[in-house]
Amino acid sequence: MTKAGWLSALIPEQYGGSGLGLAEASVIMEEINRAGGNSGACHGQMYNMGTGMSVFIVDLRDAIGHGLTVSPIANMVNHETNELFFENLEIPEENLIGQEGQGFKYILDGLNAERTLIAAECIGDGRWFIDRVSAYVKDRVVFGRPIGQNQGVQFPIAEAHIEVEAADLMRWQACTLYDAHQPCGAQANMAKYLAAKASWEAANACIQFHGGFGFACEYDVERKFRETRLYQVAPISTNMILSYVAEHVLGLPRSF
Ligand SMILES: Cc1cc2nc3c(=O)[nH]c(=O)nc-3n(C[C@H](O)[C@H](O)[C@H](O)COP(=O)(O)OP(=O)(O)OC[C@H]3O[C@@H](n4cnc5c(N)ncnc54)[C@H](O)[C@@H]3O)c2cc1C
Repeated sequence: MTKAGWLSALIPEQYGGSGLGLAEASVIMEEINRAGGNSGACHGQMYNMGTGMSVFIVDLRDAIGHGLTVSPIANMVNHETNELFFENLEIPEENLIGQEGQGFKYILDGLNAERTLIAAECIGDGRWFIDRVSAYVKDRVVFGRPIGQNQGVQFPIAEAHIEVEAADLMRWQACTLYDAHQPCGAQANMAKYLAAKASWEAANACIQFHGGFGFACEYDVERKFRETRLYQVAPISTNMILSYVAEHVLGLPRSF
């Protein structure tokens, strides 16, 4: 994907990228998951490269062995995850990005892009689960009729579909605001919340209605189920989004 140029969507053209917006980048990530893949392997590259973080990462790579150690964490989702240890690590002054003291603000801007991309990835997952389970329940015949003829089977799938489609509307709202350089913290967080919830419900319906086959690796359902579970916790937990909306959107007192 890197060679084909897909992962440089957010890099401005003057730096060799394609200079596209978050909307286009989100479609690329969505399609990876919708096709059954795991965008986790390239998610970081997509949003970091577009938000100036790549410079920081390249610096960190140079620092490995000089104050930075990297230790891989074996984990249940299907991509490389590492723990970083910083010890007496100095970053030279000439490597300062933007203005001193504004770093957290720059990172937050990047995180809104990340949350919106995650929403799109969850929407891709949700659609994959719904396509898979809809096809399976039409084919699987028990007691002389397809299991998909039962409302007990239909309703959770229909509900998940409705929620994925609703999450998609909020995802487009976040993309539109971000690409217009408007504040989009609330929309990015709400899109991520809705999409992660919808993909998890779709995952549950998909594994449930595959019966025992849902647990067989050859169907990929158990793998996608594990992968989409991540988004209840990372890159921001559902509780932190609720807390953000309570405090920053609704003006309620800070809880922590
Ligand atoms: C596979 C993977 C990849 C990751 N990649 C990155 C990465 O690239 N970069 C990066 O910076 N981080 C990364 N993370 C870290 C991730 O962002 C954090 O794990 C996540 O934000 C949750 O933070 P925590 O683990 O410190 O959980 P904690 O803060 O310890 O919270 C644990 C749980 O407690 C609850 N909770 C916590 N605080 C509150 C509160 N105030 N009110 C109510 N409930 C609360 C939530 O349910 C939360 O899930 C990754 C994590 C995983 C699993």
